[in-house]
Amino acid sequence: MGRQDAPANAHEKITYSEEVEIIVPAARMADLPPYLFLELDRLADSRRQLGRDVINLGVGDPDLPTPDYIIRAMTEALHRQINHRYPNYLGSSDFRRAVAAWYQKRFDVTLDSVDEVVGLIGSKEGIAHLIWAMAGPGDLVLVPDPAYPVYRTQTVLAGAMPYRMPLLPGLGFLPDLGAIPESVWRKAKMLWLNYPNNPTGATAPSSFLAEAVERCRTYDVLLCHDNAYAEMSFDGYRAPSVLEIPGARDVAVEFYSWSKPFNMTGWRVAAAVGNSIAIKALGLMKSHLDSGVFTAVQEAAIAALEGNPEAVFERMNAVYRTRRDLLVDGLTKAELVVPTPKATFYLWFATPRAMTSAEASKFFLEEADTVVTPGSAYGEQGEGWLRIALTESEDRLRLAVERMQAALSALPRA
Ligand SMILES: *Cc1c(COP(=O)(O)O)cnc(C)c1O
Repeated sequence: MGRQDAPANAHEKITYSEEVEIIVPAARMADLPPYLFLELDRLADSRRQLGRDVINLGVGDPDLPTPDYIIRAMTEALHRQINHRYPNYLGSSDFRRAVAAWYQKRFDVTLDSVDEVVGLIGSKEGIAHLIWAMAGPGDLVLVPDPAYPVYRTQTVLAGAMPYRMPLLPGLGFLPDLGAIPESVWRKAKMLWLNYPNNPTGATAPSSFLAEAVERCRTYDVLLCHDNAYAEMSFDGYRAPSVLEIPGARDVAVEFYSWSKPFNMTGWRVAAAVGNSIAIKALGLMKSHLDSGVFTAVQEAAIAALEGNPEAVFERMNAVYRTRRDLLVDGLTKAELVVPTPKATFYLWFATPRAMTSAEASKFFLEEADTVVTPGSAYGEQGEGWLRIALTESEDRLRLAVERMQAALSALPRA
């Protein structure tokens, strides 16, 4: 891996003690930084061990419970003995039909449940394995910066080269596809997009998705849209599927996850839908790697979609919206410049007093006992930014705001 490809967050590489040097992990492991949230958890734990009450606004993991009707469906599914055996590798036909029916209802997108849907053990698993299935040495993979780290780390592991697309505030955190050289498009195998976006909270207008589809059709690039936050939006905004764009299925796949919309991060269930060649390659790759999603979890996932998911999303979004407004107000009073996102449960804002991301994250942990993610962990372009996840109760968020305000006002004036 070239120097300019080194992880922007400059985490230390794993070092192994000398006494175990007879056991050496594969060379490719040297390209993997420690997973960010493991590091943040470790830091927060060391504060807690000092007896501090730490508020964790770091990892994007919903604090709200999985809805009861889904838990009931899971409980019933657990008692059906047939579910205790190996699942269907690609997802049961009931599961795939339920996903297709949901895409019809939610996005007005018609999918063939046999060829255009595959079940996943969470989107993260599918994202990683789709990269392995589609890209290798000599291939470029277009990856946004900042972004969910998996797109880039798995590209590097698979021996392909990530090509950075900066997401700049001036362009609404959309990549400038027109600025990517023709020679790059010609070598590219995949283009990764994620709107509503983690970490910036940005959304993409359909016109941008249409431009991406158009360019991917021109250059035979697989457009991979990670739609993990499709259902988390506010103020009347409704996020689209990339497959709504005419002609998209010729070049695009989309990842849809139960994790964030149904508070099911621990359950590990998602689906990849769209382009049948990519779906088939992913399914083949997976059949050699894992044995599918626990069938009881698939049954619960079907129940989630067939219950009244819109009511679930509405209740959930009302909670996040209140939290969002509380934090944006409070942090603005502390003279931080915090834009109001219309989707996702993230706030993305510039660090105070020209601190680096790492300095600011350390500052808020030590002076406010609050975990805030350094933007630099999502790529070079995230340097100078911070991300907050709205995943604590209103009371806890209020306390976090008070502490952050106090910590900032104790700093000498800039
Ligand atoms: C949370 C998240 C995921 C992970 O989803 P799982 O289905 O739980 O693996 C994928 N992509 C983005 C951008 C996320 O924020």
